[in-house]
This record gives sequence, structure tokens and C-alpha cells, in this order.
Amino acid sequence: MIKQETIDRVRTETDIVELIGSYLPLKKVGRNYRGLCPFHPDRRPSFYVSPERQTYHCFGCGVGGNAVGFVMAQEKLEFPEAVRFLANRLGIEVAEQSSGRNQPLYEACEQATQFFERQLGRSEAGRQYIKRRGLKPETVKRFRLGFAPAGNRLRGEARKRSWSETALVRAGLLVKRDAGLTDYFYDRLVFPIFSVSGRVIGFGGRVLDDREPKYLNSPDTETFRKGYNLYGAFQAKGYIREEVPFLVEGNFDVLTLVDKGINNVLAPLGTALTSNQALLVHRYNRRVLVCFDGDAAGRKATRRALEVLLQCGLEPQMMVLPEGLDPDAYIRKQGKSGFMKLASRAQDLVEFILAGKEFRSVSDERAALRETVGLLRLVSDKTTRELHANRLAVRFKVDKEMLLQQASETGPGYQMPRSSGVLEEKLLAAAVQSRALARDSRDFCFADTLTDKKLQAIGRLVEQLCDDPNFGPALLLDKIEDEDIRRVVAGWTFVERSLPEPNEFRERVRRLRAAWLHRRIVAAHQDGNEREAEILIRERSELLKEATRERSSRR
Ligand SMILES: [Zn+2]
Repeated sequence: MIKQETIDRVRTETDIVELIGSYLPLKKVGRNYRGLCPFHPDRRPSFYVSPERQTYHCFGCGVGGNAVGFVMAQEKLEFPEAVRFLANRLGIEVAEQSSGRNQPLYEACEQATQFFERQLGRSEAGRQYIKRRGLKPETVKRFRLGFAPAGNRLRGEARKRSWSETALVRAGLLVKRDAGLTDYFYDRLVFPIFSVSGRVIGFGGRVLDDREPKYLNSPDTETFRKGYNLYGAFQAKGYIREEVPFLVEGNFDVLTLVDKGINNVLAPLGTALTSNQALLVHRYNRRVLVCFDGDAAGRKATRRALEVLLQCGLEPQMMVLPEGLDPDAYIRKQGKSGFMKLASRAQDLVEFILAGKEFRSVSDERAALRETVGLLRLVSDKTTRELHANRLAVRFKVDKEMLLQQASETGPGYQMPRSSGVLEEKLLAAAVQSRALARDSRDFCFADTLTDKKLQAIGRLVEQLCDDPNFGPALLLDKIEDEDIRRVVAGWTFVERSLPEPNEFRERVRRLRAAWLHRRIVAAHQDGNEREAEILIRERSELLKEATRERSSRR
């Protein structure tokens, strides 16, 4: 981990105009700089850089962020790598921090991984199973497969070697039960889950018999969030910039494909694909080959994943496996060459939706058209959308312009919250840009009163960070993990709007808080929760009294 001081120094010493200017020509317009967006085919310059805020934003495709974010997107780097990249440019030495708050968790995961690896060597059932699956020892070693025996053996090992039980509990490997601490995984083959930087952060476990559940993942912990990670990402990351990644469903699909020499494979962790997982793929490659199981469930999962991938700006293609086969079984039957041959026949979006459909009537055709146009709406790249529309127009002999018009009806990206949401967004945008207003917003627990979930997440972060002397959009952007939210915040710094007077700001936030309390009071009454109602009523009346006091003192 890089020390916070280094990150702060890199942030304050980097000049975003100079940085971005070294990638593309920028021209000064008013207080900002403008150029052609490097992230979408841009004919009129719609990409803006603000020297004051140290942010950038594209009015065409909606990308935005700070200097670190720009380097991450442009150089396809992770956050720490991007900080190192910038530090290197500035000649700043990078100070590393070894003992972070999460260090004990990483250690616990590493200790357990080594324990499970040793146990696999000793388990006859485990070894037999690996053999049946046909995995080479190199693959087993590379993915650090292991075996969790029954009988609370991990707990026993932890006591014998005086490992921290607290850390093992935090890592989800030991759980508190009535009988005391118990192993979370037992009698299972164990798949360590690596972070992109190669540390074990969680585990998956598979039974070797018919017990349920067949697969079990570590619970989410401080360092492991299933929706943000992909199985195989660490092992695949050196390959997937050059080769289009395969997205498969199961851990064994990953292992068998890698075993047969296909290294560019990833899998979601037993859950439906999330947008954060899709964005992880997006850091390495815009294209992705979805290769889910060849059954009805697999097709449904593909259809869902397709939407998520399109929304995240990826260009997915779908590989269709014969009925009843998964990638693991297919490659074992057909070999690498058979698998790659099938991959070369992958379907694009339009082909996938139309495949296997019969068109007996006009209404069949209309339904298929509507479904495809609905998906085209999610395609953010205009050219790609047009190419799909072309093919669709030829296929159904309809007007391409009409399709494009329908496909652009509600554009992709962030939707502005309605009615009172506009005011909420305005106020929050002001708080993001001024530390004084941010602290005022905290006085009223502003984040709680926000009705939009995304705004709420930003509001919480504002309240957490507003004591930091470096508070501002650039600092905030470093802390936001969700790409959509980052774009929203970066976009705010380019809206020409003067900040409200502190008094006016307080007054408005207070009114929103009062309205929110009113809604809560009504709800509490309806639920018959008189005690809560009473507390809320008291807070509201104090809020209103305070407002009167402030107003009279201003006169
Ligand atoms: Zn753009």
C-alpha cells in the first residue's frame, strides 16, 4: 500500500492541464481548457479540463475524474499503479505502507491458503477429485487450490501456531457459533480468490459429494466484496489487454480453460454479473466473449450479463455452447482448437437476440425488434449503435433512421433525479466544492435526507472527508469506487454555477431536513411507533427554532 502522504503529494503537485496536455492538444476557453475526447470518437471538442478544480469531464460521452482517474483510464492502470505513474513523472519517491488496518486480514487469508494447500496434499478424496477433473499440477499450484478438512482443523492449526483468531474471524474463515469458534469451510475443495494485485482476499469452496450447498463463498469482509472481484482476474490480467477475455460462469470453467492453455479467462463469483465486475473487465479490454453454460439457465444469465456489459461500455459477443455442456466439459471434449473454433463463431448482440427465434407473424418481428432496440439504447458508442442498426434494418427491411431514433430515445448514463432531486443535487454539488459548505451539510446529516441512492453515497463521503484539509472534488474522486458516481461528481465541477451563500445553503439544507423529518414522523405514526415519532417531532421543532434564531440574528 502506498502511504497517504505520497498520494496527497502526487495529487497536489500534479497539474492536470499539463498532464492531459501531454496526451492531446488543449486550448484555453475561459477558465477551462478544451480538446477532443480521447475516450470516444469526438468531432467537436467536448472534453474539458479545469485547472482550478483539477478535474476533467467530457460532455459527449460523460467520462470524468481527476488526474489519477485520467491515468487509470488512459493507461489502463489500477489506482496504486496510476499513483506510481504520476509520482514517477514528478520525481517523487513512493513511500510504501506495510501495516495498514487490513494487514491482519491479508495475513489471515495467506495463512489459511497455505494450510489448505498443505491439506490438499494429504487428502485422498481431494487428490482424486483433482485427478478426475484432469488438472495439471501447475494449474493447481498457480491457482493455489486447497482442501478444507472437517473437524475444525483450521481453528486447531491457528491455536497451535498462535495465529490471530480475531483476524481469521474478520476474514470470514472462523465463525462464532454456540459451540465456540468453528471453521467456515469444512470438507470442501477450496479456491482462493485473489485481488487483482495478487493477494488472497477470499475463498470459494466446493463439496466433493452431493451435499448442499454445492458452492460456498467467503462472506463479504472489509477486504473482500464479491461484486467487485472476478475469479481468475489476477492470473488473467497479463493476457486480457491483448486477447479478448472469456467470461465464464464457474471456477472450474476458468481452471480447465487455463489448464488447456487459454489464459484469458474470468468468472463472476457465483453471483449474477455486477456492473463493478464489468468495469473491472473494462479496465483491460473493451471487448469480452461471454461463454456461459449451454442450457436455459445459462442463456438467461447471458441475457442479463449482456445488459450489464453494454451499460458499462463493453462490446460483448456471445459464444453459444451445445445444449447441456459448459465450457469445462466442451474443451475437455473438443480440445483447445475446437474451443477456439467455436469462439470465432461468437454471435454479436443482434445475432444473439434473433438466434433460434421463429418469425411467424408481424408481432413476432415487432417483439424481437423492440427487444434489440432496447439493448441498442444501452450501447454508448454511436458508431457501434449505428452498425448494429444497419444490420437490423437490412434483416427486417425497415428504416435505419427510425431504428436509430428509437434507440436514442433515452440515452445511456446517469439520469437526473426528479423534482426535489434537482435541488438536492444542486446543494450537494455545492458542498462537494466547498469545505465550509460540506461541514454545514454534515451539521444537518444531509446525506440521510437525500432521496437518490447515488447522491446519498456521495453525501456520506462528503461528510466523512470534510475535515480533511485537502477536501475538494479531486480528493473525493480518489475515494469513489463507482464509475457512474465518479462521472457525476466530475461533471458537477464543470457546471458554471456560483456557490450559494453559506446562510442560504444552511437554510435550504435545513428545510430539506425538516421535510424529511416530517415524512419520517408520518411514517412512524402509521406504524404505531409513537416513541420514535416523539423523538423526531422534538428534533424537528428544535430545527425550526434554530432557523428562526439564525434569521433574526442576521437582521
Ligand atoms: Zn468523451
